Amino acid sequence: MTDNEKLFNSGILTESRPGAEQPPLSLWEGKRNGLVLIECPQRIPCNPCASSCPTGAILPFEDINDTPRIDYEKCIGCAKCVAICPGLACFVVDLTAGGEGRALMKLPYEMLPRPAKGEEVACLNREGAEVSRGTVRAVTEPLKDRTIVVHVDVPRDLVSVIRAIKVVKK
Ligand code: SF4
Ligand code: SF4
Repeated sequence: MTDNEKLFNSGILTESRPGAEQPPLSLWEGKRNGLVLIECPQRIPCNPCASSCPTGAILPFEDINDTPRIDYEKCIGCAKCVAICPGLACFVVDLTAGGEGRALMKLPYEMLPRPAKGEEVACLNREGAEVSRGTVRAVTEPLKDRTIVVHVDVPRDLVSVIRAIKVVKK
């Protein structure tokens, strides 16, 4: 099955399909607080990511159906787009945090119970399969009454793979 067939048959994006791009490593490596990743490859009438971005890093849409375009130089890693995106398609990845071989991911989370700081959570890939465990470093609300954002310490080599978390039953 091709990447396109997989996306349109299953709704699951693959790393190699346009829409799963990442920031240039030269910029990303030194960017404290992280840079946004947006995986929203289909034209749909939706634009709150762009309208809520305080720095203009998500370029203004010319058409409500546009897919997001990003000026990574302007991103400050605030995660407001993560909190407002109804498709849970925005993430922030900080390669400067977490120590050797680690990174910090800021992921949307809409389930209950909420994870707590210090808790171990399961890290899931785009298909919902567990690929690692991570540690919650913070739980924030960048926008009031919107989706919470969970900051998770994860293996750095999995930042292109991890796209969700799950609270692990004790
Ligand atoms: S993380 Fe903040 S600055 Fe970066 S694109 Fe999202 S809303 Fe804009
Ligand atoms: S808010 Fe989310 S779903 Fe809507 S256009 Fe932006 S990234 Fe796509």
